[in-house]
Amino acid sequence: MLVDFSKHSSLGLGIKAEVRIFDREELGLDIDYKGLKELGLNYLGKFNFVGRGNNILVSKGEKLGILRGFNHILDLGNVVEIGANVKSKEIFNYFKEHNLIGAEFLAHLPGELGGLVKMNAGMKDYEISNLLHSCNINGKWVAREELSFEYRALNTKGTILAARFLKVVGFNKTLAALCLKMRSNQPGGKTCGSCFKNPKGDFAGRLLELAGMKGFFIKGVGFSEKHANFLVNTGKETSPEPALEVIELAKQKVYEASGIKLECELAIL
Ligand SMILES: Cc1cc2nc3c(=O)[nH]c(=O)nc-3n(C[C@H](O)[C@H](O)[C@H](O)COP(=O)(O)OP(=O)(O)OC[C@H]3O[C@@H](n4cnc5c(N)ncnc54)[C@H](O)[C@@H]3O)c2cc1C
Repeated sequence: MLVDFSKHSSLGLGIKAEVRIFDREELGLDIDYKGLKELGLNYLGKFNFVGRGNNILVSKGEKLGILRGFNHILDLGNVVEIGANVKSKEIFNYFKEHNLIGAEFLAHLPGELGGLVKMNAGMKDYEISNLLHSCNINGKWVAREELSFEYRALNTKGTILAARFLKVVGFNKTLAALCLKMRSNQPGGKTCGSCFKNPKGDFAGRLLELAGMKGFFIKGVGFSEKHANFLVNTGKETSPEPALEVIELAKQKVYEASGIKLECELAIL
């Protein structure tokens, strides 16, 4: 299927690229994902899967895949299992309704379970990996201890089909309200949120401002006046090129100004 990634990305930028759709029903995947064995367990790992497109810039678009039909939320006793396609807001609502800790920061953090786990999405000290019990990667359940998470990344390779979370009672209303408040001063419109990861002990936004990149734009694509690390698309541009140019320039300017090599949080595919 041909997908126009300028439409399937919150930044509104990207090429048209061929995508293989993996529909759970068409694949004949039962709840234990046994159907995958026929394809070969590493088959899914050959594709770069995209979720809801909130942190991607598709510029080459090689071997892309999209999962469909992984929409379940199952109470399994001491853990809750969530499918890759379940949206962050639905996860938040489920945890709130069932008085569980761990998803308070997800109310206004866009994405679906697969993308959230791959990015180890979070706010401040709260990350999706905090209460993770295990993850289904390429059809196989992998325990939390065997997964390699770091700030804004799951380094373990493969396609996330579902994840299980520990059930800990006590949804934190105060934290949910605080996370919502933190959102209020962030830029709206077409954006991917943070473009760069915060380097240890510093903030990408501060470094970008110091390097003169806050409010710098190429063809309407650049770093927000409101929040220097937010990459925004203010015009009608749909090509990924201006974003690639502005990102490279920002890396160079920050390195010149502070000797720090910024690393992209945005996934360039
Ligand atoms: C307005 C705004 C605010 C944001 N604020 C925050 C924030 O506060 N904190 C934060 O952490 N992020 C934030 N983000 C970024 C974004 O919401 C997260 O990175 C989110 O996890 C992306 O989920 P997605 O489904 O859209 O994934 P996509 O953007 O589609 O993909 C992201 C990455 O995950 C990979 N991926 C997707 N699905 C799978 C899968 N099933 N298996 C394996 N890999 C997969 C992709 O290849 C890509 O590398 C923000 C974005 C926006 C637009």
